[in-house]
Amino acid sequence: MLDRLRIGLGFDVHPFKEGRPLFIGGIKIPYEKGLDGHSDADVLIHAVVDSILGALGLGDIGEHFPPSDPKWKGAPSSEFLKYAAETLRKRGAELISIDSTLILELPKMKPHYPAMREKMAEILGITIDRIHVKATTTERLGFTGREEGIAAQAVCLLSLGQKL
Ligand code: MG
Repeated sequence: MLDRLRIGLGFDVHPFKEGRPLFIGGIKIPYEKGLDGHSDADVLIHAVVDSILGALGLGDIGEHFPPSDPKWKGAPSSEFLKYAAETLRKRGAELISIDSTLILELPKMKPHYPAMREKMAEILGITIDRIHVKATTTERLGFTGREEGIAAQAVCLLSLGQKL
């Protein structure tokens, strides 16, 4: 069992942009600005997807969903998470847990944790206790401290299926 465990790490950053909706963890969050990117720029889902792909040894989100492909322009990142969930299933892997940290000053994320966890757990086909979301500031230092963007980190632990 232990020799089939794999961890994966994901990290992502998106800059704020006026006039865009803010999507984090698959949830639309009411705020004065959103994140810029080719897709809906859901920084948390991107980090989670990268952690899953990393644990499976399958490269990164940019290889699977190239920003150069117009197909993904404005795409909801929930599609990327669905793809990660399907990839896991096809390989017979079991997602044991995901932990994540958002790095930002504003808006306050705490009220949205339950909805984000619920949404991502539903897409991944896991129970809510297997996915965690939290946030920290950088004490006003750096680009997150200047409120220029949001960063996200995620780790996942999974057990490989017999097919790999
Ligand atoms: Mg991204």
